[in-house]
Amino acid sequence: MRTVKNITEMQTISRQLSRKKKTIGFVPTMGAIHEGHLKLIRKAVLGCDSVVVSIFLNPIQFDNKEDLENYPRILEADAGLISGEQVDLLFIPDANKVYPPGYKTFVEVKGITQYLCGQFRSGHFTGVATVLCKLLNIVQPNRVYLGQKDYQQTLVTSRLIKDLHYNIEVEVVPTVREKSGLALSSRNVQLSGENRKKAAVVYNSLKSGEKLVKEGERNAAVVGNHILDLLSEEEVIKIEYLSVCNHRTLEPVKTIGKKSLIAVAVHIEGVRLIDNLIIEAA
Ligand code: AMP
Repeated sequence: MRTVKNITEMQTISRQLSRKKKTIGFVPTMGAIHEGHLKLIRKAVLGCDSVVVSIFLNPIQFDNKEDLENYPRILEADAGLISGEQVDLLFIPDANKVYPPGYKTFVEVKGITQYLCGQFRSGHFTGVATVLCKLLNIVQPNRVYLGQKDYQQTLVTSRLIKDLHYNIEVEVVPTVREKSGLALSSRNVQLSGENRKKAAVVYNSLKSGEKLVKEGERNAAVVGNHILDLLSEEEVIKIEYLSVCNHRTLEPVKTIGKKSLIAVAVHIEGVRLIDNLIIEAA
């Protein structure tokens, strides 16, 4: 595995790979690598000739300074885990080179970004869309691998790829979970052991909501309130949002159709966790 820090060098390598007709699979991350990231990487290894993983803690997608400061930074351990996979290139650009003084260009995806996390994290998806465009222009992949855990981010990415005429496929990989059901996240290490156990209620309440739908419940408010009640049983959990919505537009629905999304964001002792389920009515 080769580590590249220089943006121009990364572009040159990608161009050379394309000239040799190698397909490039790309896994963008913010580091603090866990099994969820590794699953994306393994998918990319299976599907592409060359795999590029990036680690870039994108400052402009953090609306909260403390969240950015507390985000785990363990670059050496990350590089160790990634080098254990068949990754060709680890790209670690410098924030001052990605956003040099005088930087003024931002990419905004409208519509889907006004819901879910977009309602609570001002500027977050502009930060995500902007860095993605940059990384896609630098790495020039054929395929980009993203996790379903960040469902809204996958929609934003697909939208901008289509709208800006990138010739790139998006592969969405199912969420990897701890045994308890808690979705793996770089932020989980910030939870105390006790609260990490309690955080399992996030997934378990979604599953319980899904069960109601499978049993025939179609009223989104009934399903939503059922999930909220279960979440409220854990006092430590502060609910940011719970949405039963259209899985393409993210607009809240009143009646659950064939396929819907239930998405949730909570805070536990200042740590923000998100999760979602796509539910298919029988
Ligand atoms: P992050 O480092 O949090 O920006 O995540 C990088 C990529 O890994 C994103 O596409 C995430 O959706 C994905 N990812 C994060 N956690 C998980 C997980 N538990 N299962 C699957 N993919 C994940």
